[in-house]
Amino acid sequence: MELPVVNHEDYFAKIGDDHKFPINKFGELANYLTQNKIVKKFHKPSACSFETLSYAHSKNYILDIQNKTLSKEGVKKIGFPLVDSVVQRSLVATGGTVLASKLAINYGISCNTAGGSHHASYDGGAGYCVFNDVAVASHYLLNRGLANKILIVDLDVHQGNGNSEIFKDNLDVELEDNLEDDAYIKTLKHYLKELNQENFDFVFYIAGVDIHFNDRLGKLKISDEGIQLRDELVVENFFSRRIPFCGVLGGGYNKDFNKLVELHSMLHQSCAKYIGS
Ligand SMILES: [Zn+2]
Repeated sequence: MELPVVNHEDYFAKIGDDHKFPINKFGELANYLTQNKIVKKFHKPSACSFETLSYAHSKNYILDIQNKTLSKEGVKKIGFPLVDSVVQRSLVATGGTVLASKLAINYGISCNTAGGSHHASYDGGAGYCVFNDVAVASHYLLNRGLANKILIVDLDVHQGNGNSEIFKDNLDVELEDNLEDDAYIKTLKHYLKELNQENFDFVFYIAGVDIHFNDRLGKLKISDEGIQLRDELVVENFFSRRIPFCGVLGGGYNKDFNKLVELHSMLHQSCAKYIGS
């Protein structure tokens, strides 16, 4: 069976080529996944509805994004210009994680090609995150009785401050600076072992690749192989326990753009490996 992967051409918002955020990565990642035959056809999400967004965000904040009336300070905290394509991108990327979570219930495993906007909180966005897609999708599953105990494994290098505010049940590992592969993988194995003592019935995995040694915003020293091993360990751990698993992108700001795309694709490659086995 082919891994269900969610993608939308609107993930690639027009924020200007000189913007610090590597927004082109979303388009290039989709190309990479089809060219390397990891995905034949993407599942296309629709924009997340107001009602679903309101599970995790205040009505005023959602309206301020939809109507582009957010305060200057609020926009500055997000870091993207509040233009139509950014509004649309935020809505479809969030709808994308909701769709991916439903696909994970149906197929056991799925991925989005965006998502992991873990800095967005109930009342506002921050750090390139407008809506907290994982928190929104978590509430969606809980409200419909599709899951009861959700785990968020957040391995982005940054702390998911929005998740911990909106959604309490989560693993967000804080690591010391300059950690290298061996120590990182050892810590990860330890955490996974602890998590396996508990009975989760759904897992979101935020697979940020800003743990890479060449990342502009990271502080760890993880290699390509370290990231691949991390993703495989996490996917294998939950897939072998038959816990529905939904992988989302998380951050990545590698100095080498092609490398960035390749590193993000490791999530999808790891998931595809297990669904095919
Ligand atoms: Zn990050």
